[in-house]
Amino acid sequence: MTAILLDGKAVASTIRSEIADETSKFKADHGVVPKLAAVLVGEDPASQVYVRNKQRACEAAGIDSELHRLPGDLAETQLLKLVSDLNHDASVHGILVQLPLPSTISTEKVLQAVNPTKDVDAFHPENVGRMVQGKPRFLPCTPQGIQQLLIRQQIETAGRRVVVIGRSDIVGKPIACMLGNRGVGGDATVTICHSKTLELNTITRQAEILIVAIGRPKFVTAEMVQQGAVVIDVGIHRSDEGLVGDVDFASVAPLAGAITPVPGGVGPLTVAMLLKNTLRAAQLSLPA
Ligand code: NAD
Repeated sequence: MTAILLDGKAVASTIRSEIADETSKFKADHGVVPKLAAVLVGEDPASQVYVRNKQRACEAAGIDSELHRLPGDLAETQLLKLVSDLNHDASVHGILVQLPLPSTISTEKVLQAVNPTKDVDAFHPENVGRMVQGKPRFLPCTPQGIQQLLIRQQIETAGRRVVVIGRSDIVGKPIACMLGNRGVGGDATVTICHSKTLELNTITRQAEILIVAIGRPKFVTAEMVQQGAVVIDVGIHRSDEGLVGDVDFASVAPLAGAITPVPGGVGPLTVAMLLKNTLRAAQLSLPA
């Protein structure tokens, strides 16, 4: 058996054109242009590429964006001041602070300073709490992209055994929560594995849907995967052979039922969901 390739790029392109249509209608109806403010601290090359891609995607969808580039030796108070200014700027609907931040700055403090109604990454504790309760304002971009991919590829999650490898706040924990919540793209039976998990292979082999967000190149190999499983690879690593994921695609694809490629899998969906959240933030900003 050879796996069906889950083409995240194609699904993201459909979603982006839906958002462009919705944005144009929103602008015509309300005379408001949705706007994202991106904050980039330091010179991390990968972060620069991510922010540039996000800005280009905004432009293509008719969403305004502005970039605040700040030096890596910036004081935490200066960054907090900028976040506060953006919170108070009525023309800005979404605020994105690109991670990672320099180690001299408290990421937690900065993310908590973002007004929860402009928190398009959905990292603020208020938005995390709402997601956990199944009443989200915004859903975090990468997990939301994965869930949309499953829904739009008609991969049933209700009652199915899902294993998530990784428990980060950005991917592992929220995707596990969202797939276990009630509703479309949820209702799964979810197990979370992490660095202290024992007998990892035994658990991952039970997965009908395996989501891998471990941050180690080609970590998941054929012996960890059940025949016919759906495998979602969140990892992105630059290597001599180009971009690779957390899954050893060559060994896993022949036995999986469906698999995301890297690149062209989860990554493009993450960007599409940022646009969706920015439009939603603009919609929520309208007077009731
Ligand atoms: P992270 O490093 O914050 O978390 C990795 C998790 O893996 C941890 O929770 C840890 O407990 C777990 N882990 C480590 N070793 C393990 C082991 N031996 N067995 C089981 N679990 C183990 O990573 P993250 O931020 O969740 O990102 C994961 C990957 O996804 C990275 O490659 C990152 O670059 C990528 N990523 C991609 C996107 C995208 O849009 N495609 C978005 C976010 C992250």
